[in-house]
Amino acid sequence: PHFFDVEAVRRDFPILQEKVNGRPLVWLDNAATTQKPQSVIDRLSCFYQHENSNVHRAAHELAARATDAYEAAREKVRRFVNAPSINEIVFVRGTTEAINLVAQAWGRRNLGKDDEVVITWLEHHANIVPWQMVCAETGARLRVAPVDDSGQILLDEYEKLLNARTRLVSITHVSNALGTITPAEKMIEMAHRYGAKVLLDGAQSVSHMRVDVQELDPDFFVFSGHKVFAPTGIGVLYGKPEVLAAMPPWQGGGNMIQDVTFEKTIYHGPPQRFEAGTGNIADAVGLGAAIDYLDRVGMYNIARHEHELLQHATEELLRIPKLRIVGTAKEKAGVLSFVIDGHKTEEIGSYLNSCGIAVRSGHHCAQPILRRFGHESTVRASLALYNTHEEVEKLAAALRQLH
Ligand code: PMP
Repeated sequence: PHFFDVEAVRRDFPILQEKVNGRPLVWLDNAATTQKPQSVIDRLSCFYQHENSNVHRAAHELAARATDAYEAAREKVRRFVNAPSINEIVFVRGTTEAINLVAQAWGRRNLGKDDEVVITWLEHHANIVPWQMVCAETGARLRVAPVDDSGQILLDEYEKLLNARTRLVSITHVSNALGTITPAEKMIEMAHRYGAKVLLDGAQSVSHMRVDVQELDPDFFVFSGHKVFAPTGIGVLYGKPEVLAAMPPWQGGGNMIQDVTFEKTIYHGPPQRFEAGTGNIADAVGLGAAIDYLDRVGMYNIARHEHELLQHATEELLRIPKLRIVGTAKEKAGVLSFVIDGHKTEEIGSYLNSCGIAVRSGHHCAQPILRRFGHESTVRASLALYNTHEEVEKLAAALRQLH
């Protein structure tokens, strides 16, 4: 592991120089979206200045440049999650689209009456609603693995849900509402013993830790570019080759076909089969630049820095009167959810904004897990590599002065 200098990292993110209400911006809403380094911003503008073209089609210089840049980005994503082949990397709009793609393309073909899909109480709405929709369509049943009072999955209860009818398990890697790191590797291994496929939602894990899909062994792994310092509108679906190859297309159109007649269309293999129409070329290239940036900083350095920040922030917040942290699992990444007795979460959020501190207050698109803990809303401070111990202290100091 090389040297980590948070001040140097901060200089790479121009937006961190912004002032909000006359105060330096403290960006603690990273679980919602992350800020972009100059290298990503520059890469986008370079693409539009020197490379812009549609890909794969026209035989001219700019098409070649754009195609090279797009496919280079796919290779960077492959390396980032350690997938064996670029053919396992499908570009999509984000985590939500990736899960819907699997629910529709894989789910409609593989789920039938009385089959079961297992999720957990920790899931984001994006990993609940698509399964409800496809279950309603196919007659499959949705089952939900509970958590303990710390917000960690109860593995025994999870195992009781698994049986010969379990066709798919779809679980989050890190909870966006509580920060819990789930025992994904174990849960995946257990699901596979029952012959189920597994989707792992990495929306909240890839910015905080190294992810290796060969080690974790999910059948699908999905994440959003915008939560990992890349632009919005680009995301990734990784799938095992044999699983992707057995899936019908989701959307039809250009790019995804080998040959079309009015009688019969032959589709491309993965990944093109799942990339109908013109993709988000520039933002995929931007995602490649974000991955290059993370490579330079080092995921191990990031994980260590954030672990220290989270510990520090937890200790500081626990000293604030009437503050209760929601989600106290031993294994956590990036997220501190809390409430303060006697104060509405919206009020805390707008008070912190007046101090220049950006947090989110609300249900975080994860209503079931907040209700599990008796809340409709929490305040969520979420961390990234560019946050500092000084910012953690600013948050605590501001909360101490809340009347
Ligand atoms: N899953 C998790 C765990 C998330 O945190 C999010 C984003 N909050 C999503 C899915 C959905 O991601 P997106 O809105 O980028 O599609």
